[in-house]
Amino acid sequence: MKKIVLGTSNPHKLEEINAMIKEIHPDSLEFVLVEGSFDPEENGTTFEENSYIKAAEAAKIMNMPALADDTGLCVDALDGRPGIYSARYAPDQKSKIEKLLEEMKNIPQNKRNAHFICTMTLVAPDGTKLHTQTGKIEGYIDTKPSGTHGFGYDPIFFIPDLNKTMADLTLQEKNTLSHRARALKPMVEWIKNNL
Ligand code: IMP
Repeated sequence: MKKIVLGTSNPHKLEEINAMIKEIHPDSLEFVLVEGSFDPEENGTTFEENSYIKAAEAAKIMNMPALADDTGLCVDALDGRPGIYSARYAPDQKSKIEKLLEEMKNIPQNKRNAHFICTMTLVAPDGTKLHTQTGKIEGYIDTKPSGTHGFGYDPIFFIPDLNKTMADLTLQEKNTLSHRARALKPMVEWIKNNL
């Protein structure tokens, strides 16, 4: 069993990642959490840099290989914002959604394209970067929140092929197509073959 520490303090990410691992490689990989508090300063300028910062900090604390993701919602009409600043866009998640809907209130339906991006980095116990994977999903910013599943910006991220928001999807459904799933699945293959 390969043991990897996850560089996150977000219980939703942990839940999604553990559920995916249970599906794809239940017997070969185990993710553990950092013991104690975990709040590294995410001062990178790219998703990759921030995912490295989180993974390297977790690897250092636990002295084991570490995996971390950095995720953002990039809105075309806002030149890619909030993007890398998605976590710091407003103080809490409710106000982040309200602020985004307010910023977009005059943007017509056909110009509301957006995507979620998730970059994952795997780091060795000594801090060496081992591998990076990025996953992406395209959609639209809805005009009001909908759905009770998921977290973060999921209630306003509309997926046209499904005619649903990300928060209308169950955890299992989200894990078949999300930005995080599209990064994690190839990452797990890499881990299986190389770590
Ligand atoms: P971080 O990757 O933890 O820095 O998250 C950046 C921001 O994106 C936070 O506001 C999260 O709540 C949000 N976020 C991260 N992952 C997801 C997701 O899968 N769906 C919706 N929002 C997310």
